[in-house]
Amino acid sequence: MTYTAVVPFSKPLILAAVLLSTSVSSGAGADELTAADLIESNACPRLSDVTCTPGTLNDGTGVSWAGTDEQLKKVETNRLNELAIPFFKNKLKTDAAFRAEMASKMSPPPASEKVLLDFTVAQGVTAMSRKQLGLINAAADLAKKIGIGTGLFKKKYVEDRLFGDFFGYVSGQVVDQGLATQIASDFKTVRMELMAVIHDQIPAGNGRDRMINQVASVQFDGIDCSALGTFAMTSRWDNLLIPNAFYNPSSNRFTYCNGLGHYNSSLFQRYAVIAHELTHSVDPCAFERDGRKFPAPQIVSCLRDNESVGAKKQNKFDPPKLDPKIAALGEPLTDCGGGDQIGESFSDFMAAEVLSRMVLRMKPLTLEQKRTGFANAMRFPGECKESSEYDVHPQLRARIDRIFLANPAIQGEMQCTFAPKAPKPPRYCGKR
Ligand SMILES: [Zn+2]
Repeated sequence: MTYTAVVPFSKPLILAAVLLSTSVSSGAGADELTAADLIESNACPRLSDVTCTPGTLNDGTGVSWAGTDEQLKKVETNRLNELAIPFFKNKLKTDAAFRAEMASKMSPPPASEKVLLDFTVAQGVTAMSRKQLGLINAAADLAKKIGIGTGLFKKKYVEDRLFGDFFGYVSGQVVDQGLATQIASDFKTVRMELMAVIHDQIPAGNGRDRMINQVASVQFDGIDCSALGTFAMTSRWDNLLIPNAFYNPSSNRFTYCNGLGHYNSSLFQRYAVIAHELTHSVDPCAFERDGRKFPAPQIVSCLRDNESVGAKKQNKFDPPKLDPKIAALGEPLTDCGGGDQIGESFSDFMAAEVLSRMVLRMKPLTLEQKRTGFANAMRFPGECKESSEYDVHPQLRARIDRIFLANPAIQGEMQCTFAPKAPKPPRYCGKR
């Protein structure tokens, strides 16, 4: 995400998200997979194999879908077309100026009503998919203000105004208000649990008190992420459906993007995502921004260890320049502004702690369901590709296999065994 004030849960998906209500709304279906289908006896050492398998997984609390970028793009386009046809049919019928404008763009003139409609829908879908829609408007406004020719922008400006109505329509169709109500409720439960985890995992003192008070003060900001399209490398349409969530430190608010709920109704993921984002309000980077010493240096150094997730703090393109004031606080240094993975790693660590407790509040689940559920916690469409070496997120597989699976309570729930020939169990960074 180029907008640095937000801390997304996952790395931004340039190819965006899709609405898959038909895939994820029902219960068990013939095409659903379980952890048992994927791993014969023990899902534990490579839980990420389950997470990264395309298809629909049902864990008893909900279902999740993951697919390839090509599948995502296809579903997104189909969905947008589906919404565009009735909208533009009506628009052409009721808005004479719009109709005339669209017809004037066609050469030769439209031979039939259907040809005009097909053309208009294609224009609408293209406009909606165009990146930086907001920036084009802003550029046109700026050009007008400083008195340079607006000819360059005029065409796009007119389209954007017209297709702005279309955006309003699709937004009303795809944003799920029931999800917003549900997340508002889950948010409060998870926030309480995270405060209890902080109490148990962070050494007593002012720093811990500060963390608990900070988490208590975070507010839920709803599920509409479309505004991200104004400055991120994605369009507003993408962000209506993007499976993401973020914490905004400047407003102290948490947003759970609408698209996430459509892909994944699993409570495992919902709780993990909320806990992860809330933790960003008190992660080592948040302390560094305030010029304060992080109260749990042992967790930070453990997460940096290769026996754990090996969170890196260097960014080849932006080497850390430490403020002497921060350096004086002593190790471990975070330099979170320079591509440090510690904020994400700590947020995952705390999310795993919260999830290991929240699972006890769920209805009784079978072992298979629990294994599938923990795999669902980080199951995002298209996320299992190798990430950039300089991403602030460790690789998704490492986040699952080396942070979530290091949690002894999660190992217990999943009845993990680490056989002699299996990969060594990852180092656990918390208090036992
Ligand atoms: Zn994050």
